[in-house]
Amino acid sequence: MLRVHSIETFGTHEGPGIRLVVFMQGCNFYCLYCHNPDTRPLKGGTEMSSEEIIELLKKQKPYFKDKGGLTISGGESLLQREELLDLFKKAKKAGFHTALDTNGSILDSDAKKLLEATDLVLLDVKHIDPVWHQKVTSASNAPVLQFAKYLEENNIPMWLRYVLVPGYTDQKEFLHKWGTHFTQYKNIERVELLPFHTYGFYKYKELGIENPLEDCPIPTKKQVQEVVDIFKKYFKEVYVR
Ligand code: SF4
Repeated sequence: MLRVHSIETFGTHEGPGIRLVVFMQGCNFYCLYCHNPDTRPLKGGTEMSSEEIIELLKKQKPYFKDKGGLTISGGESLLQREELLDLFKKAKKAGFHTALDTNGSILDSDAKKLLEATDLVLLDVKHIDPVWHQKVTSASNAPVLQFAKYLEENNIPMWLRYVLVPGYTDQKEFLHKWGTHFTQYKNIERVELLPFHTYGFYKYKELGIENPLEDCPIPTKKQVQEVVDIFKKYFKEVYVR
């Protein structure tokens, strides 16, 4: 059974076209800027079977047209990779496009099997510098970079994502390094820049937990444009979300 946090039926940002987006319960990172802190606890969530999700997909099929499909997000999707393999195999068999939104921290044989049934990976590389990555996520970026490399070597399409947080992820030198690291990757279909926002702040209050970025400003239009200009030196398709 899958442990699901919540479901969005008409997602338009998590892959091409209109998507059924399933947010999984549980995460192994602790990002300072997490806007879904309620998805992080490993326990909890609602149990759902692959068949139940396939049924939802079938109901939504008329809206997908030629582009839409299923996206698994989180929390961290790969924590439930074995169960997701069953779901993705069934979804592919029924003709649905599959996308996996992940922090890219796990690359064992089960994760590789899941990637074989994945049409698109939405990968967050949250910082190129190991020390800053650790500071921002409480985890190492070495597995994430290995994961990205594996996608490239196996020609698995990827949308590469970056969250822009003033004072944490906006150092120009590292933005260039991020661009230089990935610029030759042929599997990158687009780069998405996600400016830090405060929409999830109320969840910290509801959960009664400290919000480490409570006083962090959101990036200005000028700051966002500067980062777009940097990324455009390295990638053809750069979008702000
Ligand atoms: S990987 Fe995503 S869900 Fe997990 S802590 Fe970071 S932002 Fe939150």
